[in-house]
Amino acid sequence: MSDLSAFSLDGKRVLVTGANTGIGQGIAVSIAKAGGEVVAVGRSSMGETEARIGALGGKIIAHRCDLGDHATVKTLIRDVWEKIGPLDGLVNNAGIIRRADSVDLTDADWDEVIDLNLKTSFLLCQAFGRQTMAEGRRGRIVNIASLLSFQGGIRVASYTASKHGLLGITRILANEWAGAGVNVNAIAPGYIESNNTEALRADGGRSAAILARIPANRWGKPDDIGGAVVFLLAEASSYVHGATIPVDGGWLAR
Ligand code: NAP
Repeated sequence: MSDLSAFSLDGKRVLVTGANTGIGQGIAVSIAKAGGEVVAVGRSSMGETEARIGALGGKIIAHRCDLGDHATVKTLIRDVWEKIGPLDGLVNNAGIIRRADSVDLTDADWDEVIDLNLKTSFLLCQAFGRQTMAEGRRGRIVNIASLLSFQGGIRVASYTASKHGLLGITRILANEWAGAGVNVNAIAPGYIESNNTEALRADGGRSAAILARIPANRWGKPDDIGGAVVFLLAEASSYVHGATIPVDGGWLAR
């Protein structure tokens, strides 16, 4: 006999930011496969993700939003709640990276990355937590962190600062909200083949050096991340709070 209902997302509605491509798309498809309804939020067309989820007979609603605009971000959760319905989960996936030697990093490269990866993620957590607790509901937040929540990296100072910060926010919100039934956790993807890592993969030397350090002997695919996210959104993880789970082919274990 097998009962996997604790891992199901049947009847759950989950907002995923940056669900049009890469890791966010993989997460959205995994949520739909687990029975959940995806509210796909981003600034680009969700057509590809809608087609993948539609082909599975899954549920997705697209909602256009520039997540760099903090005024819009502040009302996003309430708008979705009113127009689409209550949310059971939030996945803060949208993120950007800027590569430059630290001596050359511009103010804009600092501000844009911190504003989106850290401030927008915090504002969405805050609005989701506020709405969920005001209604006495249970809720799940999954923040997409990084290996650079734990390590320094090279030529990505603002990104590393943002992802260290996101891990800290994951922990403080878990401390504040665990008792109210809101679980806040994070996933730290390893090196994944997406737009984010295009420059690294185009650099033969860097790409080979990275691959040589990955125990699984391959770069990750965007679809490798969704399973762990589904776990953190499902009943099975109800006693998991403030954790960051690496999904990195073993990188951090080296
Ligand atoms: P990606 O393909 O570049 O995806 C980034 C996503 O963020 C896209 O959907 C992008 O939308 C969205 N986004 C960026 N700025 C936005 C804005 N102002 N408004 C709305 N959406 C915006 O890269 P990815 O690898 O899938 O990245 C997803 C997350 O995983 C990021 O938080 C990243 O830091 C994290 N991560 C990635 C890796 C990796 O190796 N790839 C490793 C660790 C962590 P557009 O397509 O419209 O730009």
